[in-house]
Amino acid sequence: MPFDRYNRDIDYLRISLTDACNLRCVYCMPEHMTFRPREELLSDGELQRLISLFGAAGFRKIRFTGGEPTLRPGLVDLVRHATQTPGIETVGLTTNGVLLAGLAAPLRAAGLRSVNLSLDTLDPEKFRRLTRWGKLDAVLAGLDAAAKAGLRLKLNAVVSRGTNDREDVVALARYTLEHPWQVRFIEQMPFGNNSEFQLRSLVNEDELRAVLAAAYGPLEPVNNGRLDGEARLYRIPGAAGSLGFISPVSKPFCADCNRLRLTADGVLRLCLLRDNEVDLRPLLRGGASDDELSATIRRAVTAKPWGHGLEQHLIPATRGMSEIGG
Ligand code: SAM
Ligand code: SF4
Repeated sequence: MPFDRYNRDIDYLRISLTDACNLRCVYCMPEHMTFRPREELLSDGELQRLISLFGAAGFRKIRFTGGEPTLRPGLVDLVRHATQTPGIETVGLTTNGVLLAGLAAPLRAAGLRSVNLSLDTLDPEKFRRLTRWGKLDAVLAGLDAAAKAGLRLKLNAVVSRGTNDREDVVALARYTLEHPWQVRFIEQMPFGNNSEFQLRSLVNEDELRAVLAAAYGPLEPVNNGRLDGEARLYRIPGAAGSLGFISPVSKPFCADCNRLRLTADGVLRLCLLRDNEVDLRPLLRGGASDDELSATIRRAVTAKPWGHGLEQHLIPATRGMSEIGG
């Protein structure tokens, strides 16, 4: 098992398949973002090799993310490879859902069991403004297709003050009354030159829970308040699904962190909110053996920093969220 030097069991790898995206969410990237050329991204073959090595190293969970992972032509085959990799027990996908309507059934057939779909509002005009040009209908069609394909669903909403922190979160939470889904609210995190905006419009968990309790009555803690992954779960009394709060800023969960991240250009990011990185691409392209790569992965696990430094005003500078994958 891959334990880090703080005795955390690091068994979860999030893989960004591309830094490109078909939306431009205002809290994530600028409108005129430039993306990496194809040759800088790991190939499907390079990714498959790494997935096998991570499985052999004791990693049990893989999540594909982006940018927008559904833009990657080889996504379905990569999911199939991951689900068939010895050691890997869980494979997930985080997507904005725009292209999910056509992909949900093939992904399910490739062995995917669950999808995290990002959706910040159910108001079509606000959705367009938040994503700069997105069409809510396409995402709702993706959500519908995912549910019909039998994929377990979590909805992720990043909450921004003055944008979606009132009626939008209340409307999203309403989904849980009838659907067995987890609707999760994420505190907005600061990155690089967008950090001032991101911190200014942060809405913290306590405030958000008060908004939801005012609409639905007191929320019931689920699991006695223990974390489910990175989310603390509650339920509207009598609801089929649950509400999750992912609160890295106001209630850091670094002590329970179990993950590494692989960027689309082949860099292991040791903490989402710190710039410590280990570049695997020169090894992959320089003829390194499996043993050498595995040793580098083990060293990266050991070198994982304890936690983020937001309280000390240390804000990650080298990459934005879309280049890491959340
Ligand atoms: N494009 C896919 C999507 O939106 O689901 C996957 C990549 S996206 C970077 C992963 C998650 O990060 C999304 O749920 C998105 O809302 C969230 N995210 C983006 N920028 C964020 C920020 N500054 N703070 C917190 N979450 C953020
Ligand atoms: Fe794209 Fe996801 Fe970032 Fe939105 S949050 S711009 S969908 S990568």
